[in-house]
Amino acid sequence: MSIEYAEHTACPVCQSLSISLKFPARRSLEEFVSTSGRKFSASAADFGIWYDLYECEHCSHVFAQRYPSNLGEFYHNADIATYDRRRLGRQKDFAFIVETIARLGLLGNKPNVLGIGCSTGALLAEFERYFNATTFGIEPSLQAAQVAIVNREGRVATGFFSQETLFDLQGFERADIVCATDVIEHVPDPSSFTRLIARSALRSNGLICFATPSVNSLSCRIMGPYWWSFRAMHLQYFSRKSLWTLLTQAGFKSVGIWPYVKHIELNRFVVPVSVGDVISVGVMT
Ligand SMILES: [Zn+2]
Repeated sequence: MSIEYAEHTACPVCQSLSISLKFPARRSLEEFVSTSGRKFSASAADFGIWYDLYECEHCSHVFAQRYPSNLGEFYHNADIATYDRRRLGRQKDFAFIVETIARLGLLGNKPNVLGIGCSTGALLAEFERYFNATTFGIEPSLQAAQVAIVNREGRVATGFFSQETLFDLQGFERADIVCATDVIEHVPDPSSFTRLIARSALRSNGLICFATPSVNSLSCRIMGPYWWSFRAMHLQYFSRKSLWTLLTQAGFKSVGIWPYVKHIELNRFVVPVSVGDVISVGVMT
């Protein structure tokens, strides 16, 4: 498969034309694809700077200016072996997200929850357990979606988030909360993505929840170009300002951003660590 590219001429969040090169590419995606035999997992340890990363002078957003535009096949065929390796840690990550949302007191009992990029459905399961939620999911990986669909017959669609995949969800009207965790950094056009959620997937006063690495984090500031979140499949790197801009431009109000404490497994212990990610929640107007 040959990789096709598209380019941003302006900041993909605030559309400012004041963008400049921050880190030049150090690796080649073509080389990665040929040496890895096209084995790809969205959570694989494919670290490094793969594209020329530009920074927006207006909102501090960092992004791949020239980015691959035909990676759908990789996501469809992604296996879940790497993802599953952190099963226990991830479960605690998701419990942390759900508890963060619960503390806001904005979500009632039995909400409708839509997970975009829901993978195997572990976050949805946490919502079911905590809130007695009815859950729906959209997931591009066929293998992950097959796991998520167990006990959610008709409520999980395979593919990318679009008007069409929303129609595939049986019984879905509008969600009380849409969650896209570890997703927005993969999306080529985050503004259109967020606007589509606002316009098509959420009820008024519904919540949106993103979790993503933050370029304002201590780990990013210390490690610079060696930061572990710089990866082949990440096209967007949000600052607090660009995340806030993304959500408010799409019509969300009362946007809050908090550190996302993740959990790593060390032998038999699960240790909470602040890796530089954030959780953001906004309320639909
Ligand atoms: Zn910007």
